[in-house]
Amino acid sequence: MLRMLAVTAHPDDEAGAFGGSLRLYSDRGVETSVICLTPGQAATHRGKAKDDHELAALRRKEFAAACAILNVSRAAVLDYPDGQLHRIEIHRVVSDLVRHIREFRPQIMLSMGLEGAITGHTDHSMASVFATLAFHWAGRNNRFPDQLTDGLQPHRVQKLYYCTAPASLPNRQPISLPPVTARIEIGRYLETKIAAFHAHQTQAPLFPLFDLHVARLGSPELFHLAASVAPGAVPIETDLFEGVEQQQAA
Ligand SMILES: [Zn+2]
Repeated sequence: MLRMLAVTAHPDDEAGAFGGSLRLYSDRGVETSVICLTPGQAATHRGKAKDDHELAALRRKEFAAACAILNVSRAAVLDYPDGQLHRIEIHRVVSDLVRHIREFRPQIMLSMGLEGAITGHTDHSMASVFATLAFHWAGRNNRFPDQLTDGLQPHRVQKLYYCTAPASLPNRQPISLPPVTARIEIGRYLETKIAAFHAHQTQAPLFPLFDLHVARLGSPELFHLAASVAPGAVPIETDLFEGVEQQQAA
């Protein structure tokens, strides 16, 4: 069984960053999982929520609806504080992610780059830090050895990708995006990606900017191969599972 894990910071990142690829690979028989680190309770756009608690509850529901559209089989929103991921003890979050990797045993991981993806959000940068360390540590028996009881084994994920884009947004603080090494043609799943983003109704004021950005980008989703169990020169890939070892995939 092929499996893919995405690590994000906020509900709506899953759709905006790689919604097309999540649904495309699901339809190809890949089991997908999304771990979202915060319920997005610090968002500027708050729908009808009266406080952070209500907003978190609304956004958890919207995340579940988006993940249903994307056919994500294991979707979870953790309870870390939105806007504060840089203040959280690093081992706590990485331990959570390593445990999930060792249980789910994906061959591929997706996250955002250290720049914070297209918006440069601090939480996105931190999601990248946590996901990257979890990728490197899940396969080692001297990292979080306390987890290696009751049959849980180290698991080496084969490739880690960051989402990227051909250009940053205008009139923002400067960000330097990771170079494109994989171009995934999502075709008709572009509509699915937009539908999944629009499931985040509290974020409706963002839809015009998102729709414009997606229309400008067209149908490929772009990625940067950040780490691989098979290092070496990388040609531009058109399939995230290119070169994945089948015996490890079983
Ligand atoms: Zn976000």
